[in-house]
Amino acid sequence: MSGTIVWFRRDLRLHDNPALSAAVARGGFVVPLFILDDESEGHWRAGAASRWWLHHSLARLDESLRARGSQLVVAAGESAAVLRALIRKTGATAVHWNRCYEPAIIVRDKKIKADLTTAGIEAKSFNAALLFEPHTVRNSTGGPFQVFTPYWKHCLSLPVEAPVKMAKTAPFASPPKWPAGLELGGLKLLPTINWDAGLAKTWLPGEAAARKRMKQFVASGLAEYDERRNFPTEAGTSSLSPHLHFGEIGPRQLWSAIHSLSKESGVFPASRGGMVFLKELGWREFAHHLLYHFPETPEQPLRIEFAKFPWRKNAAQLRLWQRGLTGYPIVDAGMRQLWQTGWMHNRVRMIVASFLVKHLRLSWQEGAEWFWDTLVDADLANNTLGWQWSAGCGADAAPYFRIFNPILQGAKFDPTGAYVRRFVPELAAVPAEFIHQPWAAPMDALAEAAVTLGRDYPHPIVDHSEAREAALAAFKSMRQP
Ligand code: FAD
Repeated sequence: MSGTIVWFRRDLRLHDNPALSAAVARGGFVVPLFILDDESEGHWRAGAASRWWLHHSLARLDESLRARGSQLVVAAGESAAVLRALIRKTGATAVHWNRCYEPAIIVRDKKIKADLTTAGIEAKSFNAALLFEPHTVRNSTGGPFQVFTPYWKHCLSLPVEAPVKMAKTAPFASPPKWPAGLELGGLKLLPTINWDAGLAKTWLPGEAAARKRMKQFVASGLAEYDERRNFPTEAGTSSLSPHLHFGEIGPRQLWSAIHSLSKESGVFPASRGGMVFLKELGWREFAHHLLYHFPETPEQPLRIEFAKFPWRKNAAQLRLWQRGLTGYPIVDAGMRQLWQTGWMHNRVRMIVASFLVKHLRLSWQEGAEWFWDTLVDADLANNTLGWQWSAGCGADAAPYFRIFNPILQGAKFDPTGAYVRRFVPELAAVPAEFIHQPWAAPMDALAEAAVTLGRDYPHPIVDHSEAREAALAAFKSMRQP
């Protein structure tokens, strides 16, 4: 009997999974496979928080497959070699997968496809991760877009495919003999020291949890998304980013869920919240578009003049930023939220990133690296876009000379200080008017709040006005011939 290997990667779901559905439709047995490939050249090895998520997501995928009489075969090593060995062992005549868009993965997958085809194996790839694949979107001169608004306007004129129906056949046909794989624990994705309690308290990885979160958000959060999304104390955003990154849910499913709200009115999207949310999904599409067309951007600035920017090196300040000890409460709250939960609110990501690249003038690559290791949603496309946007060196980026004031940002987006109080508990009793600048509080107010600056909470590591002037001077020096 012939059969198909379904190579799961960033598509850890059974619904809207075209590679899986096509394999089932093809007939014959199905071997679901996951390969932990840290060996292929140029590959970005997942960071610690992402590996935690991956472990649990794979466990849930295996459970879903077992409920359909199948199972997940887990392997580690160089993808091409693992696939060859599995084809030999099972006698599979096809390999199906859903596409990823990281530059090194594209190169690797193209070669695998060519080699398999030459060897007489049917190698087919599908789109499960994006609404608009980067190679299908071109501007009027045939090049890639570099400005979001025209990009998204163009995308909205294109058709969006419906989610692929889940393969009805259950149980999936098994191979004559299941090949021996690794135990999931053998991938060593979980940390050896116990720092992941906060992650486990915050998140439930896996397709079932992703679908539940999507349904809840579309039913009760979407309509007010535009009003609530900028306030980090409110659960105003979807928190779907790690689920989307690992493909436990796909953007076509989200699009279709939002579309179904328009059945009665015929107006799509049905609310302003829906429109703004789709635009954020658009930024995710744009990030993938940029990474595909500018594959060097995870390491190099897109705007090449920034290669000359005089970034400082200061390991001590970098560490204070990472640990949430800068003395600027909104920055510290964000960095501690990241450390404790593996996630940070988007508004606060912008504030902490701006602080690193402007107030401290440490390079955006150092910030991106820390995010890569600590975010459960670490995503090469989105992280690169976010950091280059913040540093002013990316496509359609915030200009470098626009410098966020962390005190004003805090007062505007965390007016009661509830977010700071939650993640910087040593400031919990500081009155709201001083919560974003405790150094400006009268001595007796600090004493009443049981805070001594320099002992319970740090003095600011840089002065805002001086740091601002220094950043502008550095920017000016970069622009001099
Ligand atoms: P929602 O507001 O509910 O948005 C829905 C989805 O749209 C998100 O899950 C995400 O997939 C996408 N999205 C929203 N905003 C953006 C954006 N600005 N750029 C790209 N996609 C977006 N997002 C990541 O997924 N991974 C990262 O590694 C990442 N790094 C970032 C680094 C910096 C410096 C900045 C400023 C932003 C970064 N973002 C990243 C984008 C954004 O902060 C997160 O996607 C968002 O906070 C996730 O929360 P949510 O799912 O509740 O978002």
